[in-house]
Amino acid sequence: MAAPRDWLGAVEEEGNSGLQGSSGVEVVFPSDPATPAPLCPHGPTLLFVKVNQGKEESRRFYACSACRDRKDCNFFQWEDEKLSEARLAAREAHNRRCQPPLSRTQCAERYLKFIELPLPERKFCQRCQQLLLPDDWEKHREHWVVGNISVGQLGRPSQLLRPLENKKTNAQYLFAERTCHFLVDLLPALGLTRVLCVGTPRLHELIRLKASGDEKSNIKSLLLDIDFRYSQFYMEDSFCRYNMFNHHFFDGKAALEVCRTFLQEDKGEGVIMVTDPPFGGLVEPLAVTFKKLIAMWKEGQSQDSSHKELPVFWIFPYFFESRIRQFFPSFCMLDYQVDYDNHALYKHGKTGRKQSPVRIFTNIPPSKIILPSEEGYRFCPLCQRYVSLENQHCEHCNSCTSKDGRKWNHCFLCKKCVKPSWIHCSICGHCALPDHSCGAPKDGCFICGELDHKRSTCPQITASKKVIKAVRKQKQRKRKKTKMETVKEQSMNHTSVTRKKKRRERAHQYLCS
Ligand code: SAH
Ligand code: ZN
Ligand code: ZN
Ligand code: ZN
Ligand code: ZN
Repeated sequence: MAAPRDWLGAVEEEGNSGLQGSSGVEVVFPSDPATPAPLCPHGPTLLFVKVNQGKEESRRFYACSACRDRKDCNFFQWEDEKLSEARLAAREAHNRRCQPPLSRTQCAERYLKFIELPLPERKFCQRCQQLLLPDDWEKHREHWVVGNISVGQLGRPSQLLRPLENKKTNAQYLFAERTCHFLVDLLPALGLTRVLCVGTPRLHELIRLKASGDEKSNIKSLLLDIDFRYSQFYMEDSFCRYNMFNHHFFDGKAALEVCRTFLQEDKGEGVIMVTDPPFGGLVEPLAVTFKKLIAMWKEGQSQDSSHKELPVFWIFPYFFESRIRQFFPSFCMLDYQVDYDNHALYKHGKTGRKQSPVRIFTNIPPSKIILPSEEGYRFCPLCQRYVSLENQHCEHCNSCTSKDGRKWNHCFLCKKCVKPSWIHCSICGHCALPDHSCGAPKDGCFICGELDHKRSTCPQITASKKVIKAVRKQKQRKRKKTKMETVKEQSMNHTSVTRKKKRRERAHQYLCS
């Protein structure tokens, strides 16, 4: 996970009833694509459609799968757009230029050279985020270079590297010690021997540290992540640069084979996939990707174990529960609060400003996943799972219903448990925050229809914003063209004012409907 984590701070603002299929952008996966998707520097692009008040606009377009900010990748192409040979060639050249300067093999070779160096010669450039070999020193002479990089530091690249902070595309939120150790300690208890880490660099390194230390663990790990900087610290068999929104391996077939071999080793026994994706991204492309990884694992299974599932931990905020279960009905959500080092807001328990909304979704029977009693988690024999301290079993719902760790209350009119801050509203006919405005709008999120947040805090808003901007820009370009062709008296200023006014009116109509 990553991306705009900060919007979560506002999630306390709660919606209630859903508004499905409202405005925003959706990804479409054509069952029988006529043509393969065009490529951007991040692999195959995704096909998007703009949705306006539940209706799909007819013209679809391709945009980058990984970047939710046009500044990071400005790829845009209408689905039916035909490009000239010259533009295709320019695009190909651009895609090549955007690739990292060193190949995966070159990185591995550099790493081997680096660890041979005596300690005082092992330097790291903070500015370029790069391990330096003696030949590089001159070039980085005026940069902030640190020396004496120890074996210990090499083993913990997530501490050496500066977490990426680009809020939209790739903000890296690293697990706090508490969470990372919890995850690592679960593995042997569950009989797991291999972990496919998808976007979990800190978990990857802790597993490797334990395996190389004197502890009994010899669990293997393979990291798939889009952050190129990790190539410097691992050989080809433990890190592949990968895009989890389109299942793209940046180093081609060789890397894909590394992943396949890893999943299928030991007839696929003892492996788990653990992923913590940026949740500014869209759930569906992630689900499509995870299904591809699961299929890869499944290919290596014998006939008689065809009923088995690849164990998965998908780490994501609790308000995505229904969305995730749409794609993975067998997954359940654990009460465990996942927390992060570099996120002051979301610390476990009551010490952080807010309780972390991030949870683990898994297909492993929850009764097998013991949550730490020192933190107050306890076993509910009726639900057959571990729940948080204040999550009480509701005899009417017959389950421990709290999602956020607070005690929820049962509403007999709604026939379900609701957040403690809600009261039943007889005008709306359901529970809501006391200060909600009755009737309009029907709350929930305008963009994704989820119930737990508003448009302003929607995890998909950045995706939509970017795409809407892209569409607008494209349209502007077109308008400019037609304008040059037809001479109009109206000044641009005037046009944009009336357009703004119209837009405001439309929005007003929508809100009052
Ligand atoms: N909590 C995790 C880190 C999660 S941050 C840990 O401590 O190990 C999200 C991670 O996903 C980052 O490492 C980021 O580089 C990676 N990531 C972001 N976008 C990605 C993409 N499109 N494909 C693959 N990995 C991506
Ligand atoms: Zn891109
Ligand atoms: Zn219970
Ligand atoms: Zn209840
Ligand atoms: Zn109610």
